[in-house]
Amino acid sequence: MSRFWSPIVGTLKPYTAGEQPRIANLVKLNTNENPYGPSPKAIAAMQAAVADTLRLYPDPSALALREAIARTYGVSPDEVFVGNGSDEVLAHAFVALLKHEKPLLYPDVTYSFYPTYCRLFGIEAVDVPLNDDFGIDIGDYDRPCGAIILPNPNAPTGIGLPLSAIETLLAAHPEQPVVIDEAYIDFGGESVIPLTRKYDNLLVIHTLSKSRSLAGLRVGYAIGQRPLIDALERVKDSFNSYPLDRIAQAGATAAIEDTAWFDETRHAVIASRDRVSGALRQRGFEVLPSQANFVFARHPDHSGEALAKGLRERAVLVRRFAEPRISDFLRISIGTPEQCDALIAALEDIL
Ligand SMILES: *Cc1c(COP(=O)(O)O)cnc(C)c1O
Repeated sequence: MSRFWSPIVGTLKPYTAGEQPRIANLVKLNTNENPYGPSPKAIAAMQAAVADTLRLYPDPSALALREAIARTYGVSPDEVFVGNGSDEVLAHAFVALLKHEKPLLYPDVTYSFYPTYCRLFGIEAVDVPLNDDFGIDIGDYDRPCGAIILPNPNAPTGIGLPLSAIETLLAAHPEQPVVIDEAYIDFGGESVIPLTRKYDNLLVIHTLSKSRSLAGLRVGYAIGQRPLIDALERVKDSFNSYPLDRIAQAGATAAIEDTAWFDETRHAVIASRDRVSGALRQRGFEVLPSQANFVFARHPDHSGEALAKGLRERAVLVRRFAEPRISDFLRISIGTPEQCDALIAALEDIL
C-alpha cells in the first residue's frame, strides 16, 4: 500500500503466472509452453522484419495478419480482431462485451485471469460449479446473467465440450454475449468458429502461444460477427492503437500460414499427451481426459503439494493450484518425449 496509489490498486488480486526460474537442466512443464519451436518460416519472417523500417509505426489494424487468419478459418478479415496475446484480447472483451447489470458467469474452476479482470474492471461475476467429474454441464448456465465466458477445453482441467453443447448454450442465451476461449483447441478439440456465422452472440478467442509455439511473441485473436469485433476495436483504440509491433505481425502471419509445421508439431504434442496420460494411469494416477497440451492428474496416496515438491527437487517443474477441489492435482504441460520420460522417471522415484 502507498498513499500514491489510486484506490482500486489496493483491491486488485493480480494473476500469478507460472514461475520462470533459472535452474540448470530444468524440465519445465509448468506454463503450457510448446516444446517444439515456432515455424522456421515465422522465424525467417521475423528476422527479415528487423530492419530500418522499424523506425515506422506498424499497421495499427494488422491487416495482413487478419487476412491470413480470415483465410484459415473461412471468415472475412472484418470479423477478426488481433491483440497483444490473447490475454489482451480477453481484457478488451471483458470491458467491451462482458460488463452488464446482470452477472457474468464462468466455471468455479477455470482460467484464473477471469476473476482478476472482473476485479480490475468492476464486473460482477458468479462462478458456476463444475460437476463431480470436473466437467461443465451446460444446463447449469440456464440462469439470469449478463454474459458467459468459458474456456474450451477448460483450463486447468483440459476437459473439452463438443460443439453441440456450446451450440445449445448459444441458442439458450440469444441476448447475452458468449465468449469461448479456445486457447487449447488445436490439441484435439472441436472449434466453434463455424458457429460465428449463425450466432451473433458468439466471440471465439485464440492464441498463438500454445499450438503455434509463440508464447514469447504475444499474439492472440478473436473471431465473431462485426458488431462484436467493432466493440473490441473501439476499446482497443481507446487504449493502445499499436498493440502488435512489426516483428509480431510478420511472425504471426507466417506462423498462421505454415499449416504443415502447425499440424506436425501439434500432432506430436497430442501423441505425447496420450502416452503420458497412459503412463500416469499405470502408476495409479487419476488423469482427467485432456484435449489440451497438458494433463491434470492426482494420486490417491500422495498430496499434490508433496508431489510438486518432490518433482521440483528432481528439477521437474509442474503447476499446482492451492485452491478448493483441485489442490491435489498437478497440471503437467506436455514436453518433448525426453522431457516426458524425465517426468515419469522422477514420479516413479517419488512414488
Ligand atoms: C494461455 C492461456 C491464455 C493466454 O494466452 P496468451 O499467451 O496471453 O495469448 C488464454 N486463455 C487460456 C485459458 C490460457 O490457458
